[in-house]
Amino acid sequence: MGKTKYIFVTGGVASSLGKGVIASTLGRLLQNRGFKITIQKFDPYINVDPGTLNPNEHGECYVTIDGYECDLDLGHYERFTDIQTTRDNSYTTGRIYRDVIDKERRGEYGGKTVQVVPHITNAIKEKMLKNGKEKDLDFVITEIGGTVGDIESLPFLEAIRQLKWDLGENAIVIHLAYVPYIAAAGELKTKPTQHSVKTLQSYGIQPDCIVLRAEKELSENLRRKVASFCNVRPDCVLHSPDVPSIYALPIKMHEEGLDRVVLSLCGYENADHYPTTSAYEDWCKFVELRYSSTKELHIGFIGKYNLQDAYKSITESLLIASAYCQHKSKCHFIDAEKITEDNVSEMLKGMDGYIICPGFGDRGIEGKIIAAKYCRENNLTTLGICLGMQIMAIEFARNVLGYKDANSTEFAPQTTHPVIDMMEEQKNLVYLGNTMRLGGYDCVLRKGSRVYNIYNQENIVERHRHRYELNSSFIEEMEKAGMICCGKNPESNLTEIVEVPSCNFYLGTQFHPEYSSTVLKPHPLFLAFCQKLAKSQSF
Ligand code: GLN
Repeated sequence: MGKTKYIFVTGGVASSLGKGVIASTLGRLLQNRGFKITIQKFDPYINVDPGTLNPNEHGECYVTIDGYECDLDLGHYERFTDIQTTRDNSYTTGRIYRDVIDKERRGEYGGKTVQVVPHITNAIKEKMLKNGKEKDLDFVITEIGGTVGDIESLPFLEAIRQLKWDLGENAIVIHLAYVPYIAAAGELKTKPTQHSVKTLQSYGIQPDCIVLRAEKELSENLRRKVASFCNVRPDCVLHSPDVPSIYALPIKMHEEGLDRVVLSLCGYENADHYPTTSAYEDWCKFVELRYSSTKELHIGFIGKYNLQDAYKSITESLLIASAYCQHKSKCHFIDAEKITEDNVSEMLKGMDGYIICPGFGDRGIEGKIIAAKYCRENNLTTLGICLGMQIMAIEFARNVLGYKDANSTEFAPQTTHPVIDMMEEQKNLVYLGNTMRLGGYDCVLRKGSRVYNIYNQENIVERHRHRYELNSSFIEEMEKAGMICCGKNPESNLTEIVEVPSCNFYLGTQFHPEYSSTVLKPHPLFLAFCQKLAKSQSF
């Protein structure tokens, strides 16, 4: 076929219907048939990027390999499809406006009146097409954040309307809507869907396929009714059922025919010419493992955000890794702010392993340090991520090296033992327009260390999101006392990993392994962590 096809995914009726998961599912299904895809997201909010959004409100901030801080939906895209997204896969209204305003300030519009249409909409169109133009892709799937009818998503919808016109049969729109079940009537109701499609049509967009979230099966009659009221082919009205795990959705939607329908709408006449590959079987095997596992791994998250989405990539990485160990992960939030010397054993009770969570700011720091001490001294399986690793180092400096005021200069700028600090060596690293170390950096692992054996290789690349570093002037002392710095960035020599070899599994990473763990390629650190937990359970 040659030409890149553009698939736009909009949502109606209500938010949280799982547009991101449908977009990811479709990506996976097309990949399963051998197509090259990418998935991108356009979010209507004004923040220039989601990096500064509070995780309690917006869920975690996900980081791409090229160091872009973005919406957690990109995490779903990567976990489902193994593609590496970049800053070209995530845009907000704020970022688009900033580009247009900067351009206007530079005089690039030649004194013309700069308007939403055509300047903002042209900027949106250009960005919607960018990945397709620059990469060799069969499909570009674009998810539009928010719900049709929102004031702020209008420019995105106008851009889609124009693109459908410009691209003709190379662009399609999938609309995800909801059919509520009204118990009193004993029926699924299509009216909200009809209204949301009408709203979409009033913007000049005719959806080509309608995916309906519904907790009950859709009858033939209902599908025909939606088709005829909304001007779509009856075979293009699909059901997205409730599933116990989002990872079952690609299987359900494949059975429902989503990939077939999309291929036919995009001009691939016979889907059978593009049969599913072994990737589909691998996916099914994973889902089967996930469902058939009955034993549980209880993992305590020592952190400060009591919202599942705040540590989304970590919980998903654990879910995936534990399924491969034939277990189900159960993550429990342990509020670091409430941990004291007196209650630590009580608060950490009953878990198989612990994650010391990433984070910014000083809330909960002392509780985390107390918890780290308890985990280290009691030889509990513990993984510290980013701030979690820094906490491990601070705790070690305080309680093993005896530097009672050891701290990070992020929380105690005056400390006489700044174990975590801003380092001179950081200046050697190229930062992307920001004071933070963001995105993928090389790391060399020390031969013979636990991490080296876990990765089974010497050179790795992992994603970062932090400002502070382990202070290299403490390394020699720490190593002598039993905490080794066994992963280093080769350019700056900054420490990326610490571990206590005398413990069973007590290690911390300055980077975030959770950003690069996917369903078909689970991250070795999470696999090793879950294997350890599963093994210790079987004693
Ligand atoms: N606050 C720490 C720093 O900036 C750790 C950040 C994190 O955990 N992502 O270095």
